[in-house]
Amino acid sequence: MIFRQLFDSETSTYTYLLARRAGGEAVIIDPVLGATDMYIKLINELGLKLVFAMDTHTHADHITALGTLRDKTACVTIMGEQTRAECVSHGVTDGEKIDVDGLVLQALFTPGHTNESYSFVMPDRIFTGDVLLYRSTGRTDFQGGDAHKSWDSIMNRLFKLPDDTLVYAAHDYKGWTVSSIAEEKKHNPRLIGRTEQQYVELMNNLKLPNPRLMDIAVPANLACGKN
Ligand code: FE
Repeated sequence: MIFRQLFDSETSTYTYLLARRAGGEAVIIDPVLGATDMYIKLINELGLKLVFAMDTHTHADHITALGTLRDKTACVTIMGEQTRAECVSHGVTDGEKIDVDGLVLQALFTPGHTNESYSFVMPDRIFTGDVLLYRSTGRTDFQGGDAHKSWDSIMNRLFKLPDDTLVYAAHDYKGWTVSSIAEEKKHNPRLIGRTEQQYVELMNNLKLPNPRLMDIAVPANLACGKN
């Protein structure tokens, strides 16, 4: 399998490129507009054909490359069916399997960070977007975010996966690149030792500033990154 974790240093975003084999079909998860040329170059160098570009949710901190990648490669753009981004070509539903040349990713509806957040599961790993981060969880104070739903998605969906499932998140601000379900169950400081109510209180009182690009990024992303 080809698996590349790409990092956008300006927004601390991780983008993932996956393919079953060199020369085969590929999928990209959470691509950033400013890095489009790099993705295309890498895809060409590996001889891949990009068939799907997916966002785990409508990002508030960077502009998506979905629309531009669709224009440049004719790939199918995917988000959860609950998204308001009308330019998405296919809205996935909970449990739906996305087959990329034999590489299967299953969509898992994990709202909480936003009301349209999905995770994508493979047998050995999961792409959690921002609902579960490395030793943290995604903020729940805008875009339909809901701390109760975040708790439910993490405890009753993500933490039901096998312990050794690798966790790949959409962001990190501390230099982490990967974790596992077992690690997050044991060591995630937002979750351990808390009841649901205590978690909700914590999340509702984080008092974080809005992302720098939020007023630009959200409207742009509802148009797949194209004005
Ligand atoms: Fe986010």
